[in-house]
Amino acid sequence: MSGIPVPNLGPPYPGPAGSSYPPPAGGHYPQQPPQYTPQPQYAPQPQHVPHGPQYPPAPVKQEVYPVGATQGPTAPPAGSFEKVEGYRDTGFNGGFVAPPSRAVPTAPPPDLPRMDVVQQPLSRGEVKEALAAFVAQHCCYGSGPIKDMEIRSVVPSATFKYTLDTFTEKRETKWKFEPWKGDSLATSGAPPPGPWDMPITPKHLFQKETRTLEVPNSQSLRPCHDCQAHGDKRCQHCAGRGRSSCGPCGASGVRQQEQCGRCGGTGTNECTPCHGSGMITCPTCRGERNLKYFVELTATWEVHSDKYVVATPGLPDEQVREVSGETVCQAQGLFVWPFTGFPEDQVEHASQHLVKKHQTSWPLARLLQQRHDVQQIPIHTVGYRYKETEGTFFVCGHEKKVFFPDYPARCCCCCVLL
Ligand SMILES: [Zn+2]
Ligand SMILES: [Zn+2]
Ligand SMILES: [Zn+2]
Repeated sequence: MSGIPVPNLGPPYPGPAGSSYPPPAGGHYPQQPPQYTPQPQYAPQPQHVPHGPQYPPAPVKQEVYPVGATQGPTAPPAGSFEKVEGYRDTGFNGGFVAPPSRAVPTAPPPDLPRMDVVQQPLSRGEVKEALAAFVAQHCCYGSGPIKDMEIRSVVPSATFKYTLDTFTEKRETKWKFEPWKGDSLATSGAPPPGPWDMPITPKHLFQKETRTLEVPNSQSLRPCHDCQAHGDKRCQHCAGRGRSSCGPCGASGVRQQEQCGRCGGTGTNECTPCHGSGMITCPTCRGERNLKYFVELTATWEVHSDKYVVATPGLPDEQVREVSGETVCQAQGLFVWPFTGFPEDQVEHASQHLVKKHQTSWPLARLLQQRHDVQQIPIHTVGYRYKETEGTFFVCGHEKKVFFPDYPARCCCCCVLL
């Protein structure tokens, strides 16, 4: 594809004369939109207006340039260039674009969970191994009680953990500009594709990712609004004079009754930022004089995860959220439907509630894929006796994670810090 011809950018601009700027040549610069002036509701009508409108005259268009306002790149004035079809609401600060709506397919026949999962109860030796691993993870826990602790009972049970993951995509568009180095714009002249019409796919499902691309056919060229296409600007540091006051002598040229060695008695030194020229390279176009405008599309893929745990008395849900068990039911697809067929209502209710919640939680995102599962988590309630103390603790999941808030040998100094 060959580039479209470069638009006529107008006659070359006159160079800066001394430190003052020439007036803009008009017509080719970005223009400030006319300011809106509120109309008084009962404005007196002009008495003698032979021709012309009954309204107050439109405000005079003023060409306002941010001369010397900042030394960094600047954004162009709002409305300074024509909008591109399909991106009329796109601004320089970006904004998410809602995806087109999509019909939700009807529910397939339900998958019934496996209810025949049998779990082997832990032996006393396995409980002590789990306890040793638990103690090793806590620098301030002593391992002494493990040997002397009597394991009096190990009662196996199980609970359920429901997990729903929704993988979404968001698309954001914003106007950007960059110095134009004279390369081809590579536009065909056709209208740009809509934000959701461009085929972009994530590298992997259920992995966070962000990608940006230049929207095809959204590119155009403009003279730089910051330097009026001169490529350089008056130096702010010296106000274009090329010299700045000498610091050591306070611009007097004299230090301790002698000629200032720094400035040679002149009271000024060559301006460092502009090397004495009075002009600096325009930071917005980096001296290229013209800017390429285009719409940048950013696609963001995210995983939203929700978990529900059927409560076990004495055991916080967070302990169970972090461990795994045997998967008794799972599904994945564009959409998932709530699980049914569980003997415990809680799992079905959680599934219904969370699936419904995920369908409407991200109105500006497109749901690309969902997956959910139910795991049966083994829980062992262990009764112990240590010295004169009796109590219980828990061993959870395939990881045999111990929850033992009353562990007897904790060093006090660390516990205070914790
Ligand atoms: Zn300077
Ligand atoms: Zn000096
Ligand atoms: Zn510029």
